[in-house]
Amino acid sequence: MTTSIIGFPRLGEFRELKFTTEKYFRGEIGEAELLETAKDLRSKHWNLVKEAGISEIPSNDFSHYDNVLDTAFLLNVVPKAVQDLALTDLERYFALARGYQGEKGDVRALPMKKWFNTNYHYIVPKFEKETDVRLASHKIFDEFAEAKAQGLLTRPVLIGPFTFLQLADYEEGLDATDFVEGIVATYQEVFARLAELGAETIQLDEPSLVKDLAAEEKALFLDIYNRLLADKKGLSVLVQTYFGDVRDVYADLIALPIDALGLDFVEGKKTLELVSTGFPSDKVLYAGIVNGKNIWRNDYAKSLAILEQIPAENLVLSTSCSLLHVPFTTANEEFEETIVQHFAFAVEKLAELRNLDTIVAGGGQEILETNKALFAAERVGENADLSARIAGLTDADYTRLPAFAEREVLQAERLHLPELPTTTIGSFPQTAEVRATRLAFRKGDLSAQEYDDFLAKHIDEWIKWQEEVGFDVLVHGEFERNDMVEYFGQNLSGYLFSKNGWVQSYGMRGVKPPIIWGDVTRLQPITVKWSSYAQSRTTKPVKGMLTGPVTILNWSFPREDISIKESTLQIALAIKEEVLDLEAAGIKIIQIDEAALREKLPLRRSDWYEDYLDWAIPAFRLVHSTVAPDTQIHTHMCYSEFTDIIPAIDNMDADVISFEASRSNLVILDELKAQNFQTQVGPGVYDIHSPRVPAEGEIDHTIEAILAKVPSRKVWINPDCGLKTRGIKETRKSLVRLVEAARAARQTITD
Ligand code: GLN
Ligand code: ZN
Repeated sequence: MTTSIIGFPRLGEFRELKFTTEKYFRGEIGEAELLETAKDLRSKHWNLVKEAGISEIPSNDFSHYDNVLDTAFLLNVVPKAVQDLALTDLERYFALARGYQGEKGDVRALPMKKWFNTNYHYIVPKFEKETDVRLASHKIFDEFAEAKAQGLLTRPVLIGPFTFLQLADYEEGLDATDFVEGIVATYQEVFARLAELGAETIQLDEPSLVKDLAAEEKALFLDIYNRLLADKKGLSVLVQTYFGDVRDVYADLIALPIDALGLDFVEGKKTLELVSTGFPSDKVLYAGIVNGKNIWRNDYAKSLAILEQIPAENLVLSTSCSLLHVPFTTANEEFEETIVQHFAFAVEKLAELRNLDTIVAGGGQEILETNKALFAAERVGENADLSARIAGLTDADYTRLPAFAEREVLQAERLHLPELPTTTIGSFPQTAEVRATRLAFRKGDLSAQEYDDFLAKHIDEWIKWQEEVGFDVLVHGEFERNDMVEYFGQNLSGYLFSKNGWVQSYGMRGVKPPIIWGDVTRLQPITVKWSSYAQSRTTKPVKGMLTGPVTILNWSFPREDISIKESTLQIALAIKEEVLDLEAAGIKIIQIDEAALREKLPLRRSDWYEDYLDWAIPAFRLVHSTVAPDTQIHTHMCYSEFTDIIPAIDNMDADVISFEASRSNLVILDELKAQNFQTQVGPGVYDIHSPRVPAEGEIDHTIEAILAKVPSRKVWINPDCGLKTRGIKETRKSLVRLVEAARAARQTITD
């Protein structure tokens, strides 16, 4: 047997790519230095994979920002406005990713979306009428040649044509079928050039195949592949799927003249069942057996049991998805051996593949025994009280009374807010000073008193600023928080934190998901101190800021020994205690962020409720069900991608929901209206993921568009998301424009 991986983390063991790219963005280094760092990292990573004994090494899994954006550049699916700018290739690439505002023009970034059910975000390509699909980038060739020059024959990886077309946006009147011809021709050209350069196989990533496919989507897929495979230009083609099973097209896939098929045996509920119906002997099956998404060690006995049942004659052991979704290595962590032995990050997963390969080949008995012993021993004890509490929850615990319509009146009486109330999503810019001070405190270089004084000073300053600018509902700014999940995890039992466990989230941004190690309970009040301090500094209402249970769970590495539902309910009970403490401290508005609620929605519609929403939405309700009727509960979701689950969102029974809307168009609002959405809404009026300041009149326009669709008494005015990653100057300018625009809009309201 041989071993392979689908892709490797890109940021670097110590996030070198991020830091270098940020230097480049700040103008401290030039393009050449950035490209050099990238090249060194690629080389280091290829060699790591090779030295781990993995027989097939991918290339072009590297990206300067996002691999869907890379593919868009490869295929020349680049909006005309950006093509026309007098920028270098790299500048143009970053312009599409982050927006560009400078002497050479003013363009907005393309929208970002979550990559399937992960916390990675891809840039959504846009097909326009003018789009002329043709080969327009040499990245994939350059990286193949670069590896070859180092003596490594790699397997170039590319987002497959079907998935690319499925993920893209289309200008009105256009759809995927308009571009199939150009796309197929361009992929074939890529095949030809790669073959010329000496490549043997190409990996086409087609995760869209694990979703429910409508008849016309399936037809599109078959049309593309029948044309594409008609001339493979001498290359072998591996169609790689992940994040689920391919039940809608398995029979078609194995009948196609592809050479290899990659399937996910971890998340694919039906993968084993599908292959049991037979797998052709002339094709290779890449079996995704080592979990590419979680950090726990592979249970070899379990994996072997699966492998035994796979009827394929030609098998390659692989990961369930790209290792992009796990941190680099456990080698730089400081956990005790008794703990770290349970973890496998990317580098350790390479060794697991090798181990499994050895065991299958009849060796490695000692390795297998050690692994079995690890899983046989008790890892953590159970909190029996907590289990009993969860088992005893009834419908009443999940129900807030009175009903929303009644609460809305009571809250209006208590809060006296103007129409179109203005607020922000919680965090203000975390400047270098804020981060350095927090670090100094954590390291013990700063006393608790000094740190508290520093935070108080910042809060004072921003409360005053928000009052001056004229915000209606203020926030304290979240300066004490490094991260919206880690901060809570640090105050909960059962959590572990890595030092270097970064995972790419969007662009060069990494997140460091904490690890749920055991049963979760709240150790002490978490946010009460700073929220009530901020409230003491103003007569305006200050929102309390919490992260919701589903998001805490989704942005952590979850346990695999108890259900995700059970873990989430444990967290919900802990956050509930916090909500009640905030309320008791006089906080009238509490925002419970569920930024990641949509993230783990199963990819197949048929699984949505049973596997997820039926417990995730109640878990949120459990958190706020017992607050007073006139305490206003807000929630926030990043991305307005919930058009298809609007009743479930309404069912969270929050009083107000804010969500990212400015990068997407406002179609969501039509749907909210059509489905009689009750919750008040704050659709983000400007994009905070870009340093760009909205132009004069831009926010006014957006508000106008919102008011055309939602009754004004239901509307809040706020930015898209938290402002933590932004600079102070651009933030203040943008927020002043926001408040001015809201004020102007109030004048025009007549209903
Ligand atoms: N309250 C959080 C913040 O402002 C919300 C962040 C988010 O939605 N991702 O930072
Ligand atoms: Zn957000």
